[in-house]
Amino acid sequence: MSNMIDAEGGCLCGAVRYRVCGPIEESGYCHCRTCQRQSGAPSVAWFALKPSDFAYIKGKPNTYRASDHAAREFCANCGSYLVFREDDETQTLGVNTATLDDPLLSPPAFHIFCEDRIGWFETADDLPRYDHGRAG
Ligand SMILES: [Zn+2]
Ligand SMILES: [Zn+2]
Repeated sequence: MSNMIDAEGGCLCGAVRYRVCGPIEESGYCHCRTCQRQSGAPSVAWFALKPSDFAYIKGKPNTYRASDHAAREFCANCGSYLVFREDDETQTLGVNTATLDDPLLSPPAFHIFCEDRIGWFETADDLPRYDHGRAG
């Protein structure tokens, strides 16, 4: 998948805004427990792009480290979970799709961490489903 995106997004209260411009490397749903807890939702739709193709244009997020290799960035005022950022900047950056001003721009193409999927939550699609990450 290499659709280009040139768009803006931000948190619920508007204190933190960002711009993305570049090729989308992948776009999917994550069902892991960490995303569930951080977002308060059964699943998080996200898309990945190069860290250099993402920039905050207003405000600054707080960060929370749920794993030793990455930080999760969120608005300290309203709590919107915005970005998953690996410490290794050669890795892609994850942006939570529903925080785009137009979430239709990056439709999910797969599901990951389905081992943690909540039993009452299922989406009506034929997209590939992976128990863990896409590799396995
Ligand atoms: Zn906010
Ligand atoms: Zn997750």
